[in-house]
Amino acid sequence: MPALVLATLGTAAAWRSTDRAVREKTRTDAVGLAEFVATSFSAVEETPPGTPPRVAHRAVTNAVRSNWSALKLVTDLRIVGRDGKVKWSRKIEEEDKAWGDAQRLLAIDSGRATFDAPGGPFPWSPGGGGEVLYPLGGIGCGGCHTGESTLRSGVLQLTIDEPALRTEVAQVFTNASWFITLFVLVIGATIFFAVRAFVSRRIERLAAVMKRAEEGELVVRAPDLGRDELGGLALAFNRMLARLTDLKAVEIDHQRDLERARIELELKAELERRVAELQILYDLARTIASSLDLEEVLTRVAHLVPVKLEVPKFSLMLLNADGALEVKKAHPPNIGSEGLTFAIGEGVCGRAAELRRSWYVPDLEQDELFRIRGSRNEKERGSLLAVPMVRGGELLGVLNFERPRKSDFGPAEMEFFAAVADQVGLAVQNARLHEQTVALSITDPLTGVPNRRHLFQQLEAEIARAARFDHPLSILMIDIDHFKLLNDNAGHSAGDEVLRQVCHRLKVNLRKVDLLARYGGEEFVVLLPQVNREEAYEVAEKLRKSVADTPMQHGSSQPEGKVTISLGVATLPGDAKEQAKLVDCADSALYASKRSGRNKATLYAPGMELDPTRQRGPKAKERSGERPALKR
Ligand code: GH3
Ligand code: MG
Ligand code: MG
Repeated sequence: MPALVLATLGTAAAWRSTDRAVREKTRTDAVGLAEFVATSFSAVEETPPGTPPRVAHRAVTNAVRSNWSALKLVTDLRIVGRDGKVKWSRKIEEEDKAWGDAQRLLAIDSGRATFDAPGGPFPWSPGGGGEVLYPLGGIGCGGCHTGESTLRSGVLQLTIDEPALRTEVAQVFTNASWFITLFVLVIGATIFFAVRAFVSRRIERLAAVMKRAEEGELVVRAPDLGRDELGGLALAFNRMLARLTDLKAVEIDHQRDLERARIELELKAELERRVAELQILYDLARTIASSLDLEEVLTRVAHLVPVKLEVPKFSLMLLNADGALEVKKAHPPNIGSEGLTFAIGEGVCGRAAELRRSWYVPDLEQDELFRIRGSRNEKERGSLLAVPMVRGGELLGVLNFERPRKSDFGPAEMEFFAAVADQVGLAVQNARLHEQTVALSITDPLTGVPNRRHLFQQLEAEIARAARFDHPLSILMIDIDHFKLLNDNAGHSAGDEVLRQVCHRLKVNLRKVDLLARYGGEEFVVLLPQVNREEAYEVAEKLRKSVADTPMQHGSSQPEGKVTISLGVATLPGDAKEQAKLVDCADSALYASKRSGRNKATLYAPGMELDPTRQRGPKAKERSGERPALKR
């Protein structure tokens, strides 16, 4: 575009100077032509000697007329005489005719110096087109133009079509301008397409690669763009990308290492947490499992859990015989929680028990399920986690963990607390199983009363207590009369049933502090703490009567028409001072009852054990014809 502008401006300047030059040249040429023509009128032809000289007018005019077509720009050439007529014209038809503008032409030389100064200053006509007026006349003309004023024989008028010339010149320049414009456009287009073909396309390819690299695609590479500057730039860019790729690879390696280190750290922290949890679990399990006593287990749990698990408030509930959750232990202790009961489904603990899964209350203030019981009426704040203890599908109870801050239990911690509840549940279950085993080992399965082993344990303890406090202690030895007969007549099942009924009668007639135990077979022993000899006899009689007066199945087939018992009574310290002797005394008294007819109660009396008819073992019994000895 600047070239186009420059070319246009240059053309305009050239056109302007050319126009001026044309103008000057035209004027000069026109004057020259006018002078030539005017001069030719003064020229004299060569004539043969003796003939008058001939002026060359005619030859000039003929030459002018015949070559008129060559004088393209000269539109008119005429000579106007002083008489106002056209003396000569390139247009023959004008000759000898008056010229309308003659006065103007003839007036031009008025005031001029002389006619002898042809070619002197002359004016341009003001008519616009190029016009040269040249005064004619002089001595030269006098030879032919006699009678006329030789000073002023006429005016040569020459007009030039200057505008046409200028138009032609202008046309030339216009064409030149168009040509220049076209040339500039062609050059411009050529440059444009050449640049596009050789530079832009390559720059675009390089730019596209750069854009991809900018978006992170570092493995991309610029194509081979040749050996020039652009090619060099592409190579440099590729080298930079290669360097960047290397750096990126190093960065990725570092990031991978960092990520691996982070994961390892996380795993380490997780491992440490797990180890700490396992340690706590192990401590808990070891501590609470070291006892099989349920009460001891519960006490240890209530003592350890709040400390080890950092739970300021804690309670342990067990499912009681009524099917309700009963608070067995609480921390802090003695704030009135122990003994409270919750139905299954009631409150947070009840909900956890009902669903058999942990129930978490992140904000106690906002929770409707949460209930405060007992003496704590103030609104509780914080978070509560209730975890049920379930073993083998059986609900044992619920552990309640409470913290004063809201949302203070994380998911991992809840999982851990469930494991703690499992452990406590296991300890509770073990303690209960132990209790049951112990109970079974000291209980007679047929009658449900303590067995002989328990009897002797208790007897020993009671004897020691009686001695320490100087209290009396009586025992009753009881044997069902003719029980073998009942078995034989009604069968062993009936005998078992009678055993249970007799046992029941005995139990309901005793105090809570008394101990009834099955001694063996159809024999029972009753311990009567702080009961003296006379009172013991009364108790024995009461028992005897109660059994005898109670109708029992198959009793009618017995010799007396009913089930009866015989009893022997012995008392510490009067009858004996130690366990074996006391039992022997009661046994001897029992045999005395048997001997005296059965359905009797007999107080021990010294010498009874020396009865010669009383022998141990079936053979002795057979020998004596008496009942077999008591099985111990
Ligand atoms: P006595 O009046 O002299 O005591 O006569 P008795 O038949 O009761 O005498 P004995 O002691 O010889 O018989 C006791 C019987 O009790 C023998 C045994 O078959 C029976 N017996 C022992 N234990 C059980 C038991 O658990 N169930 C039943 N059904 N019978 C038992
Ligand atoms: Mg017996
Ligand atoms: Mg008997």
